[in-house]
Amino acid sequence: MQADRIAVPASGIQPFITTRETTMPYPAEIVAEVRTKIVKRLKAGTLPRESPSKTWTGRGQRLNCAACDEPILPSNVEFDFDTPDGRQFRMHLGCAALWEHERQRR
Ligand SMILES: [Zn+2]
Repeated sequence: MQADRIAVPASGIQPFITTRETTMPYPAEIVAEVRTKIVKRLKAGTLPRESPSKTWTGRGQRLNCAACDEPILPSNVEFDFDTPDGRQFRMHLGCAALWEHERQRR
């Protein structure tokens, strides 16, 4: 997708994930891209609309984010949660904020 290229910082050629890793809040282009994925997944039911039953945070474990599909690196804060129906999710903290916003909006 084009968004990968838009997100390259002016400081030099860096992979997309570096921007996500180091920038909070996300640049507008990343917000738009992640929000689109989240909205689709809320509609499809692959991301939950209900409030988590349990949440915790820690360092990323290089596992993929349920919202944006990028790995959550050890330098990222990983937000994990369980839903009342027993599903478990992990997201970048920034992605979790977008998910929280979108799930409450719809
Ligand atoms: Zn993410």
